[in-house]
Amino acid sequence: MGALQPPFRPPRRILMGPGPSDVSPRVLLAMARPTIGHLDPAFLALMDEIAEKLRVVFGSANEFTLPISGTGSAGMETALINLLEPGDTAIIGVNGVFGGRMAEVAQRAGARVITVEAEWGKPLDVDALVTTHRRHPDARLLGVVHAETSTGVLQPLDELGGYLNETETLFLVDAVTSLGGVPVEVDARRIDVAYSGTQKCLSVPPGLAPLTLSARAMERVRSRATKVQSWYLDLSLIGAYWGGERAYHHTAPINALYGLHEGLCAVLEEGVEARYERHSSLGVRLQESLEKRGLELLVEREYRLPQLTSIRVPAGVNDREFRRELLERYGIEIGGGLGPLAGQVWRVGLMGATCRSESVALFLSALDELLEGM
Ligand SMILES: *Cc1c(COP(=O)(O)O)cnc(C)c1O
Repeated sequence: MGALQPPFRPPRRILMGPGPSDVSPRVLLAMARPTIGHLDPAFLALMDEIAEKLRVVFGSANEFTLPISGTGSAGMETALINLLEPGDTAIIGVNGVFGGRMAEVAQRAGARVITVEAEWGKPLDVDALVTTHRRHPDARLLGVVHAETSTGVLQPLDELGGYLNETETLFLVDAVTSLGGVPVEVDARRIDVAYSGTQKCLSVPPGLAPLTLSARAMERVRSRATKVQSWYLDLSLIGAYWGGERAYHHTAPINALYGLHEGLCAVLEEGVEARYERHSSLGVRLQESLEKRGLELLVEREYRLPQLTSIRVPAGVNDREFRRELLERYGIEIGGGLGPLAGQVWRVGLMGATCRSESVALFLSALDELLEGM
């Protein structure tokens, strides 16, 4: 007999970073239910329910709506590699880490990438995007990040969707941090492709990437001249499992899907509007309380995400030490800055199950105590 192996016992944390967010016990319990087969009729029925609930949260009637096996980045990669072929032009807005990644993935897919940039902490200029599109009307897609988690900027989408819908260019939106926290409204905004992740405002552990494609985006996938480079992320193969034929492609991550189903049930029981209101009011409460303390926020009020707030690290305070103390003494995890903002900002998330008045109160009192001693 081997020696007893102690299980891993995670420390108690409050996840107030840029993701993952706190996961409610009901979702964790759902994931602990018995695994069944991925072609079991009961599981196929569950898949249909998940797709239906995702449509509600995305605000879309798109038939092609399903979760990709993999984290939010897998959703990004799936969207780009299925919609782009070598030599295609793609216009990508870059005002933070995730726009930069989108450009990188599009480039790896063989596209000629035209970037439209904005300062980190500012939204992309819609006129600049439209002007760039007029110069490159043959672009296959134009992609932007709805909620830039590296800065806390909410990108306005309304005008872009209406404009692109009149053209041959698909409108692609990264909704990883926005879905379940602020309205995404895929159909109303004429978004052709949106992908998300489970670990941000849906408050389900990382591992799945909800994705939705409009009919014209699906037409683009069907009319490709070349095969998608990735076999695993090829939407025509994945669609055959999720759609009518139920053909085996890869084994669905069964228990992860139980978790997503339960997380979506929680979203719909709360009601999407009530959920947006909860994020909005608590986000504003946190932001106003920080400003009252004389702290400076990176993003102008109009473009602030309620679910992610970037605070400038006050002069004289050691960024790493502050975050370490916050974690060790209070069990609160927040994020540091990325790229040019490394060491410059703290990123505080109020996503999904973390978005409670207790989290705001606890963070503010911990902040006061720590800053007093620094
Ligand atoms: C977190 C995030 C991603 C990547 O998701 P992972 O789950 O880390 O793979 C992509 N885009 C945005 C805007 C994100 O916040």
